[in-house]
Amino acid sequence: TQHTLIRQSSRSNVRLRPIPNHQLTHYVRSSTLYINPHSHSLQCPNRPHSERDSRKEISDSIYISVEFSSNPVREKQRKMVANQPEKEHPVPAFGLAARDPSGVLSPFNFSRRATGEKDVKFKVMYCGICHSDLHMVKNEWGTSTYPLVPGHEIVGEVTEVGSQVEKFKVGDRHFVVRVPDALPLDAAAPLLCAGITLYSPLRYYGLDKPGIHVGVVGLGGLGHVGVKFAKAMGAKVTVISTSPAKKQEAIERHGADSFLVSRDQEQMQAAMGTLDGIIDTVSAVHPIMPLIGLLKTHGKLVLVGAPEKPLELPVFPLLMGRKIVGGSCIGGMKETQEMLDFAAKHNITADIEVISADYVNTAMERLEKGDVKYRFVIDVAKTLQQG
Ligand code: NAP
Repeated sequence: TQHTLIRQSSRSNVRLRPIPNHQLTHYVRSSTLYINPHSHSLQCPNRPHSERDSRKEISDSIYISVEFSSNPVREKQRKMVANQPEKEHPVPAFGLAARDPSGVLSPFNFSRRATGEKDVKFKVMYCGICHSDLHMVKNEWGTSTYPLVPGHEIVGEVTEVGSQVEKFKVGDRHFVVRVPDALPLDAAAPLLCAGITLYSPLRYYGLDKPGIHVGVVGLGGLGHVGVKFAKAMGAKVTVISTSPAKKQEAIERHGADSFLVSRDQEQMQAAMGTLDGIIDTVSAVHPIMPLIGLLKTHGKLVLVGAPEKPLELPVFPLLMGRKIVGGSCIGGMKETQEMLDFAAKHNITADIEVISADYVNTAMERLEKGDVKYRFVIDVAKTLQQG
């Protein structure tokens, strides 16, 4: 165990450098600053950043006492890697990383282990930008560690397979699922997160049948593919949105049957008790009471959006209508393959704006403002140049 005491005379912009391979079991004494044990950085919100943070009042100067406890196994691994970095991680890699909660992305060189016998290595061709990437680069969920290379809606081509890999060969297109040839790679990329995140709960919660009336809340990256999947499954679909301007596209382009403006009391009142299920994709804190009101008796509200703060759950409307609130998180590999095959059969892709890698910070700002129709996808293969 090692103790470090840092004293700063300034109250602002104090940062601790990340200390690799040590687990931070810390305490912080400061009048205004808190330490985030995940990013090892100091932040100054009005409350501790996570339940593992703590504070004590002190005077003018900022004293930070940090305790590092070593995990023996990790420590051994760390020493091994430190002694032989070129053997442990011999493969050079390149990406765009956020270095702190400003979320600004910049070129980042790092390294990976050699391809193992069960590994598949592939060259990333396209990468969709999900709102989760935005939550993560800005540490809105309090779990980010920096440097952080975001991006998980990735598709590409296999360049190497390990000796025990049987399902894939060099040149295949995938995400370690097979991307059907009928799907263009760029518009298929968002299906790997947005697509499966909507497909899976529609199936699991039984909202995938003709005659079922489904509501999709939030017509963003997730929401717009949700409308397409629900329609292809035979459901009747109502979009519930804060943006009246999206009505025409929701109906004419994505195939929704109807559209409700969630801030329009009259429209919401008229639609009370009409939906069998709702998939809520909203990325920010919002009231769910009106959504529960839209459900029929036994209706299901499924949350897939991940706001940074808890939502308020009114209990009585659930009791009276024996209604259900549930959640869902992306989907497994088997179901992801099933979703892609379904998408290929029904000609479902995301509506995308393809961008170059150097546009990514502007794209993040635009996503934050809801200014995208409906998913940014980075052309990684053609535009991400090693710096
Ligand atoms: P997005 O493209 O930004 O879409 C979110 C939509 O939510 C917006 O287009 C907007 O639609 C609506 N919205 C935004 N702020 C709102 C507010 N204050 N009140 C009401 N509605 C608001 O984001 P996304 O990529 O679809 O992701 C949505 C959320 O799902 C994020 O929190 C993301 O982290 C999460 N997510 C979860 C999973 C999972 O496995 N569960 C997977 C991926 C993403 P309207 O203009 O139509 O109102």
